[in-house]
Amino acid sequence: MMRYTSTRDNQKSVTAAQAILQGISTDGGLFVPEKMPQIDLAWMQALCDKSYNQRAVEVLKLFLTDYSDEQIATCVNKAYTAEKFNADDMVELARISDQEYLLELWRGPTCAFKDMALQLLPQLLTTAVKITGSDDEIVILVATSGDTGKAALEGFKDVAGTKMLVFYPVDGVSPMQKRQMCTQEGSNVRVCAIKGNFDDAQTGVKTIFGNKELAAEMAAHGKKFSSANSINWGRLVPQVIYYVSSYVQLMADGEITPGEKVNVCVPTGNFGNILAAYYAKCMGVPFGKFICASNKNNVLTDFLRTGIYDRNRNFYATSSPSMDILISSNLERLLYKMSGEDDAQINTWFDALKKEGRYEVSDSVKEKLSTEFYGGFCDDADTAKTIHDVFTECSYLCDTHTAVAVKVYRDYKAETGDTTKTIIASTASPYKFANDVLKAVDESLMTDDEYENLAVLSKVSGVEIPKQLASLKEKAVLHTDVTEKEKMAEYVRGQIL
Ligand SMILES: *Cc1c(COP(=O)(O)O)cnc(C)c1O
Repeated sequence: MMRYTSTRDNQKSVTAAQAILQGISTDGGLFVPEKMPQIDLAWMQALCDKSYNQRAVEVLKLFLTDYSDEQIATCVNKAYTAEKFNADDMVELARISDQEYLLELWRGPTCAFKDMALQLLPQLLTTAVKITGSDDEIVILVATSGDTGKAALEGFKDVAGTKMLVFYPVDGVSPMQKRQMCTQEGSNVRVCAIKGNFDDAQTGVKTIFGNKELAAEMAAHGKKFSSANSINWGRLVPQVIYYVSSYVQLMADGEITPGEKVNVCVPTGNFGNILAAYYAKCMGVPFGKFICASNKNNVLTDFLRTGIYDRNRNFYATSSPSMDILISSNLERLLYKMSGEDDAQINTWFDALKKEGRYEVSDSVKEKLSTEFYGGFCDDADTAKTIHDVFTECSYLCDTHTAVAVKVYRDYKAETGDTTKTIIASTASPYKFANDVLKAVDESLMTDDEYENLAVLSKVSGVEIPKQLASLKEKAVLHTDVTEKEKMAEYVRGQIL
């Protein structure tokens, strides 16, 4: 039986269903597996001729031992359908040079990699409700700066036993992101703008989660709050699947010999995606170096190079907005493992982060970090140049986030001479950030209309516009609610009770 403990109190021990239902441990720590399940080459080779969904079931069986095999298969097959993913394969590997394999994770309903986790999470969560014998309705609250909100809405829409409310800053999201959210269909979802910035929305949601009176009132009505952000184990475990699957796929395609080492490069914000790759290595996938790519908000680059995490710095709005973040929550899970599962040490470091905005890890952790990870960053000008270079040299169109990863990977290769084949996570469709991508490809073709830019980009590249984005223009606006940031709890009460 696989059990989970908290990074801040490793006396705690819960089942997978409990960990997923709770989201975060009551001590403020994150849930992690007590022991990593182990797989070997033979196990992976047996998956070579299996579909993505079959591979997903096999990986999940190792982690969710309190779910039945049938429950797992049902969750997977409801989450990953050819219809929702607009493709036969949920993910694709595109080789753009001798060493570079782009792992395309954006075939889902919102055209970004968050769909891989947020399509599966609602299934895992509603099954967890059944397993734990509760019949409460789950009310998910999300504060979003754009991408997470839409992916969560698509994942939870019309899922029985759940309701979802999404809050976004009224002037803080892109027109495309706003349109994606405000045209959202589904009988159980509401979207509301708040008069404030993203931090106000986030603080408002956290305050509601901590409101005991409201929680009691909800309980009396058979309802319970939960969260869909990336600290939930149910969002991390789906990401481990695609790293295992991509190694299996490289073997199946004859691109590597079985057991050959492969590096992984990930454009990183909250550290969830790259952590999933590291967990796959801990399970036995022959991964080499992890290349952690940041934009100008390079707090992780500095950390990986010096062992000092310091969030006291400027915040920059960049062309890769989903990586504009100064506190990478999932780093806590990595440090728990690298410190030898020292929960006291984790408490000390994260208290310091809260109080002083800074901590420094021990020498032994620094050494482990530099063995496993390389950190690099790139600014908006280099991001645009990389989109341009990759398009002209490899006839491949990549989005701004993916371009950051390609650039940092190329810097790594030039600096170290390491020519190991590398999986580079491609986290969004280029059409999701069409203005910046078109500008990088050929600025003279830019128009003032984002939909027109989609069409131009498609004409230049020959790559089809995802129908999820093309159809937005015709969709009716269904959500126009706006509230004061002080009145979020009242709004929730009005919608739910
Ligand atoms: C969220 C996001 C990222 C960052 O992923 P993390 O798991 O937070 O590190 C990168 N690219 C895109 C397009 C995203 O939406």
